Amino acid sequence: MERRVNMEEISDGKRYTGNDLVRADCHDCEGCSACCRGMGNTIQLDPMDIYRLTKGLSMTFEQLLASAVELQVVDGLILPNLKMTGETMACSFLNEEGRCSIHPFRPGICRLFPLGRIYENGTFQYFLQTGECRKQNRTKIKVSKWIDTPELPVYERYISDWHYFVKDLQNRARTPGQEALMRTFSLYVLQAFYAAAYETREPFYPQFYARMEEAKRRLG
Ligand code: SF4
Ligand code: SF4
Repeated sequence: MERRVNMEEISDGKRYTGNDLVRADCHDCEGCSACCRGMGNTIQLDPMDIYRLTKGLSMTFEQLLASAVELQVVDGLILPNLKMTGETMACSFLNEEGRCSIHPFRPGICRLFPLGRIYENGTFQYFLQTGECRKQNRTKIKVSKWIDTPELPVYERYISDWHYFVKDLQNRARTPGQEALMRTFSLYVLQAFYAAAYETREPFYPQFYARMEEAKRRLG
């Protein structure tokens, strides 16, 4: 979820790339599951998260919506996020041992935490959120290893492309006279990028970019 914050207050003041070392390694969390509880609707899911979840769990997007995922309107766009449930408002994928039951295909934001992304000039860099992770004495780890995602440069390009595409749509949704059109387009985005099943035996990126090209053609 995009936030407008004072970077000096929430970070160590540095920016990181995938090749940098960052003090983020909480050593497999060791009994802590704090950031899997009480997160409200902040763990937003991008199309690749849905590809990974539907593939890993052999579930459809509709089945995810009936269980662990919910929808919210974010600046005029309907987007999915992980749902927090139960007395402790925990993620549905947190098991009884307090571990993530979908670790190999957990969403991108879960892979990133306690890092964040700062978007500028058509791209982004990583930053360390200093007040978010409960674990003391975190050690240094290479950002690429922490994020644990294959083909990191390709993934980062995709993250940028998706972010700025969504941002553009959200800006249009705020433009006087565009509201009704964007409400229709918001439903289209939900259907095209999330609800329409991905072929999970095929790579994600070509499918995503085909959908992106079609969406841009429709939007003009
Ligand atoms: S707060 Fe830190 S140590 Fe605790 S679960 Fe989250 S990342 Fe792991
Ligand atoms: S998907 Fe896993 S890591 Fe992410 S919030 Fe849920 S339990 Fe935690």
